[in-house]
Amino acid sequence: MEIILATNNQHKKEEIQAILNEHKILTPSDLNINFQCEEDGKSYFENSYKKAATLYALTNKIVLADDSGLSVEALGGAPGIYSARYGSTLGLELSDEEKMDKLLNSLENKTNRRAYFVSNIVLYINPYRFYSVQETLEGEIANCKKGTNGFGYDPIFVLPDCKKHLAELAAEEKNAISHRGKAVAQIKKLLSNL
Ligand code: IMP
Repeated sequence: MEIILATNNQHKKEEIQAILNEHKILTPSDLNINFQCEEDGKSYFENSYKKAATLYALTNKIVLADDSGLSVEALGGAPGIYSARYGSTLGLELSDEEKMDKLLNSLENKTNRRAYFVSNIVLYINPYRFYSVQETLEGEIANCKKGTNGFGYDPIFVLPDCKKHLAELAAEEKNAISHRGKAVAQIKKLLSNL
């Protein structure tokens, strides 16, 4: 089955394609569609639903959308749904490196380092039939960056069990435990029953 993924993030595409390996995942750019969708929802679900419905209106094909982020307990759950825009001013987004530096600075001297990733996935078959799955990955914010795999905040996120940074895991290892990996595994089951 061909599924259109409502993202311009190549890393998300690779992670999701690895799990949905019997399907073909295409992004808007694969279809020469310039996909921009303002993420103005109050929750992960509102944002992923909006991305999915917007892209469905453009393609009339089965769409998958992910909205995700990182919540830090000591920051009252920030950056959360604003993780992609963390620290941006006048619409200018910081690089991943700058976002991680800002987060590490704002946690200086904080002993509570608990944090969790969230991924909300919407599988949009048509306007009357869609599914949503939301999953988390719990861990801690490290004191420094480590590892070169993955994307976003992976180099500063530490797994409680093995003390490895998420960016030190191989792609399959991350997918087996991550917020997105677990959510997409549920979507895979739904797809097999369509
Ligand atoms: P959005 O879903 O496009 O709003 O962006 C989510 C943002 O959260 C990304 O740009 C990353 O900064 C962060 N994020 C989401 N999932 C992950 C992940 O698996 N690893 C690291 N950062 C992530």
